[in-house]
Amino acid sequence: MRQRNSRNPLSSSTFLYTILALLAISILTWLFITNDKKEYYTKTDYLLGTYVTVRVNSDKTSPVLLANAAFKEIKRIDEKYGSTRGIVETLNSSRGNWVEIDQETAFLLKSALEVSKNTGGAFDPTLYPIIKLWGFDDIESEKHVPSRNDIEEALAKVGYKNIEISPEGDRVRLLNGAQIDLSGIAKGYAVDMAILKIKSIDEKATGFIDAGGDIGIIGPKFGSRPWVIGIRHPRSENGDKVIDYVYMYDGSIATSGDYERFFEVDDVRYHHIFDPSTGFPANNGVISSTVIHKSAMLADAYATAAFVLGDSPGVTFFPRYGALAFLVRDDLSIFKNKGFEVYLSK
Ligand code: ADP
Ligand code: MG
Repeated sequence: MRQRNSRNPLSSSTFLYTILALLAISILTWLFITNDKKEYYTKTDYLLGTYVTVRVNSDKTSPVLLANAAFKEIKRIDEKYGSTRGIVETLNSSRGNWVEIDQETAFLLKSALEVSKNTGGAFDPTLYPIIKLWGFDDIESEKHVPSRNDIEEALAKVGYKNIEISPEGDRVRLLNGAQIDLSGIAKGYAVDMAILKIKSIDEKATGFIDAGGDIGIIGPKFGSRPWVIGIRHPRSENGDKVIDYVYMYDGSIATSGDYERFFEVDDVRYHHIFDPSTGFPANNGVISSTVIHKSAMLADAYATAAFVLGDSPGVTFFPRYGALAFLVRDDLSIFKNKGFEVYLSK
């Protein structure tokens, strides 16, 4: 009996330790699982003429709050730079007079002009008269193939050199009847700014923002894994086929395709990306262009330019400007800038 009694405390403490150890293991496992499966908050809204998705997570604050801050910023930019309102509308009805602009507008215009200069005018923010003529200025506008005469007339007003910014950067005027359209760069800019907003609240937040194919990474998935981004197959019926996958931890990627907005007449496809040298939809053998860049704004603008330029010599100089292009030609063959392949594997 004594012996038994003396062994009892030992066996009960072993039992206690076992329980504690099991408890510790299960708590750790639970922590590991919950941490690993930490859900991302996703919100989608129709802004900037497209569906915008914010997918975000944070250890510090509510991801709902972060997504709302991002959407507020995107909405602000949509209202400010949309083609029929704000400063764009003011400039387009300024009849060549100087118009006062704020620093943000100066930055956006200067960035657009820099891409125009670097791409020999393939990206041109003064295409508005052409875009309007074809009916691509608004989803409601009637789309049609204009007469040669009308195209020539509209083209005479086009040219990025018609945008004159004062040396102080506080005023701008449009020469020779020029009118601007910032749709080829504003979406990317909105993504950059929304990410900045999120980062100003939680520097370590992770996730991404996708504005109709212009994607900016907030931070790697669960802090360490790449986001896997499918480049849409440009001839995918439902838009669900992917031509290749890109793995991204940071930076931005933007795609422009002839499938996004187009109409067909006699089996010819007329799409929304124009060649500023002809006034016709760009027709250099490219049906989809994707560009990776640190900035979503520049990825967006260079992707539009890449569509116009094609591959030879076309986009071969892009890496000089920090842009890497992936083009799908009309025979579905692919051109990639050297360096792009780094993103095609984990
Ligand atoms: P999406 O809006 O389909 O993502 P883009 O980013 O390529 O496409 O922008 C296309 C828009 O930019 C067009 O709808 C038009 O308003 C404008 N645009 C068309 N051609 C050009 C061009 N060569 N340079 C600058 N902007 C363009
Ligand atoms: Mg673009």
